[in-house]
Amino acid sequence: MELITVRSGQRLEMMDITEKVEEVLAKSGLNKGACLVYVPHTTAGVTVNEGADPDVSRDILERLSQLVPRKANYHHREGNSDSHILTSLVGSSQFIPVEAGKLLLGTWQRIFFCEFDGPRTRTVWIQPIGLR
Ligand code: ZN
Repeated sequence: MELITVRSGQRLEMMDITEKVEEVLAKSGLNKGACLVYVPHTTAGVTVNEGADPDVSRDILERLSQLVPRKANYHHREGNSDSHILTSLVGSSQFIPVEAGKLLLGTWQRIFFCEFDGPRTRTVWIQPIGLR
């Protein structure tokens, strides 16, 4: 298991961490298997989506914040229920297949750390699993 640190700059933000995951994978020497990317936070998650056009991330975040408004009749006293709900919607992990030492991402796919209560310094766990 390898830990990487991500520093977000916005309250809601999608940050491309694909290269960091690839570095951990390369260092592990894994040839065939999969790579677990896990975010151990309750107000941040991880997703896979298009990285070529930054407007895709922008649209996702804009629409998510319309679906889950910052202020509503929430019960959680900390005042960040929207962040917790968005985290559950997006999820806390991704599991990406690995073949010949490479992540089997599609042409346009990238791995995004999703900040929902930034700016903060965050941790992401990366665990390559399989055969060397
Ligand atoms: Zn909270």
